[in-house]
Amino acid sequence: MKFGTKTIHAGQEADPTTGAIMTPIYQTSTYIQASPGDHKGYEYSRTGNPTRNVLEENLAALENGKYGLCFGSGMSAIDAIIKLLSPGDEVISTNDLYGGTYRIFTQIFENYGIKFHFIGMDDADKTEALITKNTKMLWAETPTNPMLNIIDIEKLGQISKKHKLLFVVDNTFATPYLQRPLDLGADIIMHSLTKYMGGHSDVVMGAVICKDEALAERLYTIQNSCGAVPGPMDSFLVLRGIKTLHLRMQRHCENGKVIANFLKNHPKVGEVYWPGFETYPNHEVAKKQMDDFGGMVSFNLKGNKLEDAIKVVSTTHYFTLAESLGGVESLIGHPASMTHAAIPKDEREKTGVVDSLIRLSVGVEDIEDLVADLENALNKL
Ligand SMILES: *Cc1c(COP(=O)(O)O)cnc(C)c1O
Repeated sequence: MKFGTKTIHAGQEADPTTGAIMTPIYQTSTYIQASPGDHKGYEYSRTGNPTRNVLEENLAALENGKYGLCFGSGMSAIDAIIKLLSPGDEVISTNDLYGGTYRIFTQIFENYGIKFHFIGMDDADKTEALITKNTKMLWAETPTNPMLNIIDIEKLGQISKKHKLLFVVDNTFATPYLQRPLDLGADIIMHSLTKYMGGHSDVVMGAVICKDEALAERLYTIQNSCGAVPGPMDSFLVLRGIKTLHLRMQRHCENGKVIANFLKNHPKVGEVYWPGFETYPNHEVAKKQMDDFGGMVSFNLKGNKLEDAIKVVSTTHYFTLAESLGGVESLIGHPASMTHAAIPKDEREKTGVVDSLIRLSVGVEDIEDLVADLENALNKL
């Protein structure tokens, strides 16, 4: 099955009792048993729910994995993955990282004796040099958030194999439409389904996907024991969103390209971060591991004034000022005061999250309207 067919069909069969073509929303907490232990495969909805299970199978297929597990949010998916570790273990992570991920690592899990090192993983040698006998996991985001750095997944996969580490890739920004890290040597994929996968800004959910059965068993025990599972209604919404993932992503990429080029030529704009530029650092790696360059574009302003950035993000109309990304509607954000406010100023500025940095999630609206919207806001500076 090819990708676009998988989005619609993988894991999904018409309901055997009614023929309903859409997966029913099994809004139930429990399931009848004829005699103790004699049931149809479901006992309790934390442990398993048919709507959620269809979504989990669909996700596993999209990532070319075998096992999918859904969680109540991307953060609870991350929580489950780190619970594979024990006190004394160390994690090496991308330094340009989703703010919430940085927060759960440093404010929650460091209290449990797990140590985190942050580094620009586009330098694979420097990353390898940080590995000690206590290192158990590599954690990568690519493209990174919000600087859109590209990390070579295959190279890190080789390093993690050599040192017997678990290699986790947060694939939220790219989605399996653009890149499939399990094929490139990752052990675990993490998703915030809240973003492109759900695609309609109407649900918060996360997922973990892997290929290895023993690893899936451990993750399943965590999912069932800790209980951060999504409900059937939300599972249905994400399943519905995924049916158009390939169509939406195609348009996100087309629009992202036009916006990136428009910004590059605008006199008020400083740097533009978009991996599709031929001169972009690691553009060749992006070309190798991604099928296109996505709909996320970041840029800063000439002069780097905080008040200019605030003015731009408050002036745009179709680019709505809001946290999050990946929905059909365009969003604009100011990482330093919004998504990355949890990261100390000197720490964030080292990675490029300066005061005038603006992040766009380019939606699927008509491109002429989107360009005019940005042009209007920038020309008011
Ligand atoms: C949003 C996001 C998360 C967290 O997911 P939630 O669904 O908001 O809990 C993690 N990583 C990335 C890259 C994200 O964009």
